[in-house]
Amino acid sequence: MSLIVQKFGGTSVGDAGKIKNVARRVVDTKQAGRQVIVVLSAMGKETDRLQALADEIDPAPSERELDMLLSTGEQVSISLLAMAIHALGHEAKSFTGYQVRIVTDSSFTKARIVRVDADRIQRELDQDRIVIVAGFQGMDENLEITTLGRGGSDTTAIALAATMKAEVCEIYTDVDGVYTTDPGVVPEARKINCISYDEMLELASLGAKVLQIRSVEFAKKYGVPIHVRSSFNDQEGTWVRKEDSSMEEVIVRGVAYNKDEAKLTIKQVPDRPGLAANIFSTVAAANIVVDMIIQNVGEDGLADITFTVPQSDSQQAMDILDKLAQEQDMGEVKCDTKIAKLSVVGVGMRSHSGVAAKMFQSLADEGINIMMISTSEIAVSCVIASKYTELGVRTLHTAFGLAEAGS
Ligand code: ADP
Ligand code: ASP
Ligand code: MG
Repeated sequence: MSLIVQKFGGTSVGDAGKIKNVARRVVDTKQAGRQVIVVLSAMGKETDRLQALADEIDPAPSERELDMLLSTGEQVSISLLAMAIHALGHEAKSFTGYQVRIVTDSSFTKARIVRVDADRIQRELDQDRIVIVAGFQGMDENLEITTLGRGGSDTTAIALAATMKAEVCEIYTDVDGVYTTDPGVVPEARKINCISYDEMLELASLGAKVLQIRSVEFAKKYGVPIHVRSSFNDQEGTWVRKEDSSMEEVIVRGVAYNKDEAKLTIKQVPDRPGLAANIFSTVAAANIVVDMIIQNVGEDGLADITFTVPQSDSQQAMDILDKLAQEQDMGEVKCDTKIAKLSVVGVGMRSHSGVAAKMFQSLADEGINIMMISTSEIAVSCVIASKYTELGVRTLHTAFGLAEAGS
């Protein structure tokens, strides 16, 4: 019998009525002759509510206790879904990550799944039950409860699909699939029918929050096909799968943006070997992830080094760098949090030229200044002032013909 994993996000289980709809959909799948594992997020904005409560008590709470708290949201939704399925006359059981042994490392609030124990889930499936698993949570080797980072239920679902060798992992959400850009920003954004793992990975890393990055990494590694679709209708959504030659025909598949980074500049860095290494190893030692980097060397032998970090880490990075700048005789350290990164993504870029030029020209035509640029094999990104984010996204979406192209 074929096995399917179905994951429903927060908006899909936002109230009792929606949970009943999910129950109906899951039961329909079961009645069509398939085994079903369901993964749920917490109801609506429950995780935000819990996080805000913690912040009220302590802005920097113990991460172990934060995971203990945040993991409760999913326990509510899974038990309610089991009850809703029972009410339809079917057998179902809900389980926490702990109960089905989703084993992670010990990085509280951003744990990585190490392995999943298939036995318990298999026993329940063998008894013809629908198995419901709490998303976003696991346990480490010391039996501590961990969480997988925001959006982590996607990763739970795909890890289960990989371990249990499911035919497909369906990700049900509040939009009809993966769009050419965030449909909340550009109403003309179009649903993509099919996208490669690499393109989805880039889009997710560059800001499209529709799938958690790690979930796509998992799917690519284990070859799990993902079907992102709406929980409110039956339309075909977006298939995320292995690249094929037809995908190269589309040069730009989508546009992403990220407003969560900050730009740091260290002025007048003496131009001598070892200083850049010193700066970035100091930042890395504080566990701060650096994204884009540029260095401008002037004729006076002094360089300005500019780089971006997550906005949430920018104050800490400033404190560290101010200290380092004094010790090493560097100039002033500046921070700009009002920036956004715009990116265009597509595997077709590997074999087509001119994408960067077109991107820069389109932004220039709107009077948008580019502060930083970076490229990968299948993406080009520009940092601009955050007040131009929406205009920039719309401009690039139109310039690359995304509203009308086929996929
Ligand atoms: P869920 O609660 O179901 O996990 P998310 O909020 O995590 O849902 O993801 C869905 C949201 O992602 C959409 O409502 C949309 O605003 C946003 N989004 C951003 N970029 C894209 C994109 N390229 N395609 C589709 N949705 C996107
Ligand atoms: N409930 C968690 C969150 O809001 C996990 C998830 O929904 O994927 O981030
Ligand atoms: Mg999500």
